[in-house]
Amino acid sequence: MKTIGHWINGKSAPSASGRVGRVFDPARAVQTGEVTLASTSEVDDVVRVAREAAVSWGASSLSNRATLLFRLRELLDASRDELAAAVAAEHGKVHSDALGEVARGIECVEFACGIPHLLKGSHSSEVSRGVDVHTELHPVGVVAGITPFNFPVMVPLWMLANAVATGNTFILKPSEKDPSASLILADLVTRAGFPDGVFNVLQGDAEAVRALLTHPGVDAISFVGSTPVARSIYETGTAAGKRVQALGGAKNHMVVLSDADIESAANAAISAGYGSAGERCMAISVVVAVGAVADPLVDAIAARIPDVVVGPASDEASQMGPLITAEHRDRVRSYVQGATDEGARVVVDGSAGRDEGYFVGCSLLDGVKPGMRVYDDEIFGPVLSVVRVDSYDEAIELINSNQYGNGVALFTRDGGAARRFTRQVDVGMIGINVPIPVPVAWHSFGGWKASIFGDAPIYGPEGIRFYTRPKVVTSRWPESTPTAVDLVFPANR
Ligand code: NAD
Repeated sequence: MKTIGHWINGKSAPSASGRVGRVFDPARAVQTGEVTLASTSEVDDVVRVAREAAVSWGASSLSNRATLLFRLRELLDASRDELAAAVAAEHGKVHSDALGEVARGIECVEFACGIPHLLKGSHSSEVSRGVDVHTELHPVGVVAGITPFNFPVMVPLWMLANAVATGNTFILKPSEKDPSASLILADLVTRAGFPDGVFNVLQGDAEAVRALLTHPGVDAISFVGSTPVARSIYETGTAAGKRVQALGGAKNHMVVLSDADIESAANAAISAGYGSAGERCMAISVVVAVGAVADPLVDAIAARIPDVVVGPASDEASQMGPLITAEHRDRVRSYVQGATDEGARVVVDGSAGRDEGYFVGCSLLDGVKPGMRVYDDEIFGPVLSVVRVDSYDEAIELINSNQYGNGVALFTRDGGAARRFTRQVDVGMIGINVPIPVPVAWHSFGGWKASIFGDAPIYGPEGIRFYTRPKVVTSRWPESTPTAVDLVFPANR
């Protein structure tokens, strides 16, 4: 059984805390490792290292940073399979799906390679006679990133690429459920030539997070995880004077209008509802069938479910892996098994799963309504709920009444309806005939309402903004204008 420790100051660091967590292969329900859980004094140590490294790293040249990021990009590219295998072994998602998350993470490093351009700031010349103004972007200092189990490579790369490119040092606190990929990332960052202490990994649980949140040596917190934790991270971190972005959970709707292509919509519902066993914050969990589309759509989705191959990542034929833990599997099962009592119709019951591992199959529920637990809660499993509505306006009302606002999709052939939809939904990321609209790395990712706390979406241009502080310099050189004492508030002439 392997031991998964920290990575501090450019090398692996054993823990002295004496606390450990258990890491499992969810496809076999077998413990494969033990992860170190940091103590508060270990948090002090890693913050000290990151603070010291921030001094010279923050002053490093942009061309140096870009060179290192290009090298990191190449190393990541050569390590796709290794990273995907580490994800599959502890998360359980199938290899092709894990490769997808690695690819989307690498995209964020490619964006950050353009850091000399991204940090150009702005300049206004002759704003007043002989006076110029320019804005410079400076690092915030030490950033801590706290990440969820469901994307152990991509979400850390969402944060670390822009955080270090902008001249900050970074402490990653990965999910304790699948921590191994973080150490591969750390090794690659070090091999790329980043100075020691620029990127550190601190393994741990809520105890480490609480210490990071209030530590005076941490300047900014990037969090991605569930809504209750995101809310408390935001409240505690900002109360401690830190800059905080905290992305939370979701309940993503997919609206199908009567003019949509039913076959494409059914394919999209299967892919976005059951991919990664529904453990994606951008998974579709509610299909909103408008009018007469409902019966044929439910039939088309149900007809495809037997073709979804559920199995371990070790089997190349598998399309959908297990859930992350036994507790989570039991929780997902309880939603499906309780759906009939809530008044829903169980069209396909996949709750039985397999003999070994934390598997469940795909479930499809019809006649779901707000007020039912299956609708109100984020299930985070392969369970699609169909809500039937009579009109487009009812669909908008449903979506905008939901507490979450992460992603949403519309399937239609009507451009006017699509445009209206885009303007009317209170949701941060919208797909038009695209079921999982995760923005490319040069846009930014973030939901609305209870899917985000703080006003800063993650990665892309918003990531650059979050990890930097502006300085605005107003300058006048003496030879251009003779000066005199003037006690009046400066007005431009
Ligand atoms: P989680 O909230 O349980 O854990 C996330 C991180 O917070 C982990 O590193 C964990 O160790 C830490 N943590 C857990 N409880 C804590 C506590 N009480 N105090 C301090 N830290 C704590 O989330 P998860 O189960 O790992 O991930 C799944 C959730 O993440 C889902 O709700 C999903 O929608 C969400 N998610 C959101 C996005 C997004 O971009 N909005 C992306 C991925 C996942």
